[in-house]
Amino acid sequence: MKGRIHSIETFGTVDGPGIRFVLFMQGCALRCRYCHNPDTWDTACGKTMTVEEVLAEMEPYLNYYKLSGGGITVTGGEPTLQASFVAELFQACKERFGVHTTLDSNGFCDTGHIEKLMKYTDLTLLDIKHMDDQKHIELTFQSNERTLKTSRYLSDHGHRMWIRHVLVPGWTDEQDDLIRLGQWIGSLNGVEKVELLPYHQMGVYKWGQLGRPYTLGDVEPPAREDVERARMWIEQGMNKPISVTI
Ligand code: SF4
Repeated sequence: MKGRIHSIETFGTVDGPGIRFVLFMQGCALRCRYCHNPDTWDTACGKTMTVEEVLAEMEPYLNYYKLSGGGITVTGGEPTLQASFVAELFQACKERFGVHTTLDSNGFCDTGHIEKLMKYTDLTLLDIKHMDDQKHIELTFQSNERTLKTSRYLSDHGHRMWIRHVLVPGWTDEQDDLIRLGQWIGSLNGVEKVELLPYHQMGVYKWGQLGRPYTLGDVEPPAREDVERARMWIEQGMNKPISVTI
């Protein structure tokens, strides 16, 4: 089996615990206005690799991953679009290397298609982009229905999650929506951490390179006090002692 890969990073430190091998998969069904990897969207781009080829890229650095409490993170794009490949890769990573596996997903998938994948996934970083469905559609061009369903599925099946939310001024920072987000997170089992990610414009140049109009060009990153206030609203909604990190 082959996967369609966008790129590889051998020393990732932000997508899960420890030092990580990060595999960026090609293809995504969402079109987030703030996406910093729009070059991962097209399912026909990237290069194909077998599980063995990915393992060979990873093997030289295994000691770093193991000693740091890290492992492998598969992100994208959206990795669940290639769930069978990622399941096979994670199975091999666990059985052959004994490393920790993390899936970084937008949750836009059919939960019936990720059963095997979840069997070999230690941690899921799940992006919840908006609690209001209409605003979610305006931001990503897709409904949030599948993502919320996936979060419930992971909760019901005993999976560990870190929930991620990008704070975009004027788009995802309203009090009611953040309290609702907190309430939803509070209703889930298995959430170990919430990461509130302030919006930034680091990937904007890629939109230009692809000839796509970037529609958030006039949105500035949130001020520190706005991020703190957002954190407070999420915590207020959760009503649970889960740490919200920034
Ligand atoms: S889900 Fe991720 S990769 Fe897909 S469009 Fe949104 S930010 Fe980009």
